Amino acid sequence: MLKSPYHGGHLEVIVGPMFSGKSEELIRRLTRAVIARQRVAVFKPALDRRYHAAHVASHAGRSIEAVAVRDACAVRAHLAGEGVLLAAPDHTLPEVVGIDEAQFFGPDLGPLVLELAQAGVRVILAGLDLDFRAEPFGCIPDLLARAESVEKLTAICTVCGAPATRSQRLIGGEPARYDDPVVLVGAQESYEARCRVHHHVVR
Ligand code: ADP
Repeated sequence: MLKSPYHGGHLEVIVGPMFSGKSEELIRRLTRAVIARQRVAVFKPALDRRYHAAHVASHAGRSIEAVAVRDACAVRAHLAGEGVLLAAPDHTLPEVVGIDEAQFFGPDLGPLVLELAQAGVRVILAGLDLDFRAEPFGCIPDLLARAESVEKLTAICTVCGAPATRSQRLIGGEPARYDDPVVLVGAQESYEARCRVHHHVVR
């Protein structure tokens, strides 16, 4: 039986570099909540403004149904339903809310998930703690500090096989520059898991 060790709502954060198993761990926890017949809502980032049905999928192939949304405001709107405010006494919130790629939901994510936890919801976030420069990513560091539970995962360094804590950005096969824009139109871009020694950012 899944029973929260906390009274009421709480925040769980799963972080690590790309390929560290964040989505796998998120899917594992959410699947258990579904088996326990809890009401579960799952969100992932969308590239366009409309909500659409989607899946959170891990690199190893497991998946769970999700709603793709543009940002944290869209999560709030989706949970609020037809004009019902979160703060309204008769709202029905899910018991569990899962969010993948949390670093892409913008600055409004923090206040929203804290409000949900306060309202009794178990919130589970998965996201990158560090960007490709190995610097803290957006609102994630703040949420790591505020969470009841934090799991920091490692991947395998593609160069030496040591535990990898960073995401190496490659452009045309070469390490990205510190100042390279996050979106590079037309560039051949890829990412690899790397340890501290083998993570490179060209300055
Ligand atoms: P994340 O959400 O952190 O990007 P996923 O849960 O999607 O990670 O994928 C994790 C899976 O990726 C692993 O179980 C493994 O099958 C695969 N994988 C591919 N490359 C690596 C790597 N360098 N280190 C660890 N796992 C890897």
